[in-house]
Amino acid sequence: MRQSRLLDLRQDEFIAMAGHELKTPLTAIKGFMELLSQRKKYIKEKKAEEYLEAMGVQVDRMTQLVRDLMDTSKIRTGKLVLSKKKLDLDNLLAEVIKTIQPAAEGHLISKNTRTPVVVEADRDRITQVLTNLLSNAVKYSPTGTKVIVSARKEDDQVVVSVADFGVGIKKEDVERIFDPFYQGKRPMWPGRGLGLGLFISSQIIKMHGGKIWVESIWRKGSTFFFTLPT
Ligand code: ADP
Repeated sequence: MRQSRLLDLRQDEFIAMAGHELKTPLTAIKGFMELLSQRKKYIKEKKAEEYLEAMGVQVDRMTQLVRDLMDTSKIRTGKLVLSKKKLDLDNLLAEVIKTIQPAAEGHLISKNTRTPVVVEADRDRITQVLTNLLSNAVKYSPTGTKVIVSARKEDDQVVVSVADFGVGIKKEDVERIFDPFYQGKRPMWPGRGLGLGLFISSQIIKMHGGKIWVESIWRKGSTFFFTLPT
């Protein structure tokens, strides 16, 4: 097949996938709106709050998808710009854990380092990378398992790690896991995302002059690492 035809096909596949991923939360929101409007006269306040909360979750999901698409476009056109300042990664890790923990039902996220590690980095973008790695660790491991993070100084760099005890990644997938849209050979399920998170994270780390990689054992768990220069 000619290269351009192959690219067209991928593009079609991508549009279908993006459309589907965006439509699923929209359908859910519409459903909750209909329930609220049909029952508005006799619905209990607690139930209405539940529906509104569920709608909020779907809105957040859509916002995240749109953000990922926009970031990918910025990366591809060279328009993603960093705003670097001094930043304590140990502190930032604690903050990100605090934000994620309430939504990570049944997972215990712990940090096993406690020393300040200062780097010159873009706070929002590194927060985005940590959020991506931590929410993946939760998403791809069973309830009741631990997620362990650490940030330590090694020579002239800082090494951050996020370890989970979940499904793991097959050897043949490890090399491609940071490619855009790559999701491994697993069944699709709604809400799985577009496979852009790790691509965006890897580009952000590379732009900082760091490295990102994963060590994983299929069905045992994965540890994602990234480095940042000090
Ligand atoms: P998404 O989660 O939206 O699919 P990502 O780019 O964040 O996109 O991840 C790409 C793929 O990498 C996922 O679809 C999944 O197959 C795999 N993956 C990422 N993190 C983990 C993890 N902690 N454990 C196992 N597989 C993972």
